[in-house]
Amino acid sequence: MNRQPTRVMILGASGSIGGTALTALRKYREAFTIVGLSCHTNAEQVLMWADEFKVPNICITGNANCDISGVQPRIYSGTDGLRAMILEVECDVILNGISGSAGMVPSFWALESGRHLALANKESVVMGGPLLFEAARDSGASIIPVDSEHSTIDALIAAHGKESISSVIITASGGPFMSFTTEQMKEVRPADALKHPTWSMGRKISIDSATLANKGLEVIEACYLFNIDPDTVEVVIHPQSIVHSMVRLINGAVYAQMSPPDMSLPIMEAINISTFPLRNVVRPLDFSELNLSFSAWDETRFPMLAYAYQSIKTGGSYPIAFNRANEIAVNLFLEHAISFPAISDIVQHALQADFSHGPSHFEEILVIDRIISEQVEQTISRFIR
Ligand code: NDP
Ligand code: MG
Repeated sequence: MNRQPTRVMILGASGSIGGTALTALRKYREAFTIVGLSCHTNAEQVLMWADEFKVPNICITGNANCDISGVQPRIYSGTDGLRAMILEVECDVILNGISGSAGMVPSFWALESGRHLALANKESVVMGGPLLFEAARDSGASIIPVDSEHSTIDALIAAHGKESISSVIITASGGPFMSFTTEQMKEVRPADALKHPTWSMGRKISIDSATLANKGLEVIEACYLFNIDPDTVEVVIHPQSIVHSMVRLINGAVYAQMSPPDMSLPIMEAINISTFPLRNVVRPLDFSELNLSFSAWDETRFPMLAYAYQSIKTGGSYPIAFNRANEIAVNLFLEHAISFPAISDIVQHALQADFSHGPSHFEEILVIDRIISEQVEQTISRFIR
């Protein structure tokens, strides 16, 4: 069959998701063409990708780590440049692999431009909530989840029908401190927390995985993405990260999706909007190597997941507050300014304020996020060591 290649733009191309996407795309050059890449600082990396894939447009939102004068691709700069690249460059699907809350506004721009949005940046969903899906409906664009759990829940819901599902089950590796006591967690350093046992990822999501805040963000993400009640989202610890999610049917059966812990699969599934037959994206599982285990999560040692449930159940702007307070705390921990347990202390403290009012339009999300940020910053000194 003679198909036009799908035109892909990758935001956050210098990061873990961006690199995994581009590495996977090497195998499918006839089906995809890369029309734009963005990075914040690591222009050197992105120029290498641009050279390899003959990418005509690049955006550098921050300060480039190398000389970019006289380079071949068209260069867009800064946040305005990113908006211009998203709106101007013809493309079919935008993969958003920017880390943290900086990814939210570009998600709205992508949807505004009517492009399909392959969304790795879970913070966009947590902050944008229903307004993000409204933006998609307004422009006719679709939001396709890249997070491995949500990518597979999406497929399981499509296979079984939402009406026959009683709950979705998200698996969590548990991170590097699954067996640590509360006392041991006080001594954890950023380098320890960055060593994830099964996934290789960026710094922020690695810390979030160690506190289980990542699972918290994913519970909120699932509620908004699939329009389901938090009480129907279960989390189970599964250290091998082979089962990515499951659905529990009303008849009592449970269906699971299994594949190696490799983001290539959910990324390729999300950007493959023309349903090109993708073969061998990841290696086949060898069952003689597998020994799978499951257990319940411990709220006392990992309170962040409980705070996330509390935020989405209370609604309003609590999910935005959970996300912002966590991001501030993670940055402080990475700078060695606070202890590991102080991350959850900061979030717990932040959630005590009144955030019952939710945003009614896009600009209001930014205003509320800024107010939350100021409130958290004002109280931060008591947690600094
Ligand atoms: P990384 O830290 O590896 O990469 C982040 C990317 O975002 C880099 O390209 C970075 O640019 C860019 N960036 C950072 N700050 C800004 C900013 N202010 N404005 C614009 N761009 C910025 O992160 P990951 O790839 O690990 O994660 C990306 C997203 O995907 C996160 O939301 C994460 O939760 C989600 N995700 C990641 C998974 C993974 O396996 N990594 C799995 C599931 C979800 P530069 O490096 O040039 O400064
Ligand atoms: Mg995930």
